[in-house]
Order: sequence, then C-alpha cells, then structure tokens
Amino acid sequence: MINKKWYKYGLIGLVSMVLSACASSVVDERYQAKGQDSRVKYVVIHYTWEDMPNSLRILTEGEVSAHYLISDDEPARVLQLVDETQRAWHAGLSQWKSDVNLNGNSIGIEVVNLGSRQSGQAVPAESSGWQPFTRSQIERLIVLLKDIQARHGIPAENILGHSDIAPQRKVDPGPLFPWQWLAQEGLGRWYDENRVTELMQQYRQTGLPSVLDVQKQLRQIGYMIELTAEMDKQSKNVLRAFQMHYRPSRYDGVLDLETAAILQDLSR
Ligand SMILES: [Zn+2]
Repeated sequence: MINKKWYKYGLIGLVSMVLSACASSVVDERYQAKGQDSRVKYVVIHYTWEDMPNSLRILTEGEVSAHYLISDDEPARVLQLVDETQRAWHAGLSQWKSDVNLNGNSIGIEVVNLGSRQSGQAVPAESSGWQPFTRSQIERLIVLLKDIQARHGIPAENILGHSDIAPQRKVDPGPLFPWQWLAQEGLGRWYDENRVTELMQQYRQTGLPSVLDVQKQLRQIGYMIELTAEMDKQSKNVLRAFQMHYRPSRYDGVLDLETAAILQDLSR
C-alpha cells in the first residue's frame, strides 16, 4: 500500500525539483525594461527557383534557409523553418543603406516559384519568361507580412526583395512580384503616379539627369552603388533591380524618362 502522505509530499518535492531545474540558475530576477525594441529591422522576400519538394529539402537540409516558406499548392501554406529569434541564412552578401549582411537583422521569406527557370535564361528580356506567383501565395504573404510588421515594428519601406539588397548577384523575387499590390496594403514603398507624370514632362524638356545624379538617387533610396559617374556594369545591375521593383514592364538597366521620374520621386 502506498503511504498517501509520502506520496503527496514526494510529488510536491518532485514538482519543485523540476521547476527549479527549468528556471535559470544564473538569473535571480527578471524584469521587462521599457527601453527595448526588436533586433529585426527588415523583411527580405525571395523566390526559391525550385519546386516545393526541392525548396523544402534545400531550405531545411542545406547551407541556406529562411524563416518562412510559402508553398505553391492551392491554397498556399505558410511553413516556418527557422525561429524568428534565430538568424536564417537567406541574404548572403548584402547591403541596404548603412546596414551590411542583412541575415543578422532581417526575417527571410521564400516563396515557391521557378523564377525564369522555365525560359531557360537566367534573366529573360521579356517579363513573359517568368513564372507568375499565385493569388493565394500573395494573400498568405500579405497576412504574414502584416503580422511580422506589427510584432517587430518594421517600417513599410524596410520590406525589400533579395535583388534590392544584392543587385549584383540576385534577381529574385523577379519582375512579376506584385510590389504595387503589397504597397497598397501598406507593405513596402510606392511612388506618386501624378508626380511621376509631371516629372516625365520636365525631363522631356530638360533631358535625363546625369549618371552621377542617378547613382546618388539610387544610393539615397538605399541601394549599394559606387558613385563612378559612369553607366558601368554595377550601375546597370542596380538600375535593373530598381526597375524590376518599380517599373517591371522593362528592366534592361537602361535609364529612360519613366525610370528617371520614379527614381526622382522615391529619392526625395
Ligand atoms: Zn533570394
């Protein structure tokens, strides 16, 4: 027969032992100080360039990862692969404004999409060479982004594409990614269309701004670019990334009236 008294106190002793093992022995008291904020400053959006099974395998077993993966089934699903308190390996060599290597202060979201893979070219000249995102993927992404934004206090303009922070190496999420739709939801930046029309009229009369001015404006927005005053390879790559984001109907890295006007409006 079990001694009830022993059983009762034995159980209490066991519970208190477990509790004290769980509590940290190096901290005696815990507070929530007023002066604190999230370490997360950015959200970076990618496409996977792979189908769903390969995406999940690579992002969970390989050298790269992301906090979230959005599937391409119907309806799309959101999978969490890395805890938000941890660094995911998604950004690589990257820069935005004065922040370098954004793995340390960003949340990475991968969307399952083949990019331009089906066209057989890394960067097809036409936007028809890219796989479209599904409505369901973007709807789930918007809900996820709003949740992340609210919890970490991330400014709308700090929601970026991989190509924005690594324009010399990356083109994802590509020209079919619906940045304008996201901006209408308060996620990311967009330009003032009336202002851009006015600026295009002005540039028609005055001519396009100098290459140095364009480089300075791109830098002002946040892009990493050398101020060389020449339309060199690095400048074209940055301009292409800018066009994919804000003027995806043509993303050849060539400065034209509309690109110059959008750039001027966003860099004010
Ligand atoms: Zn990427």
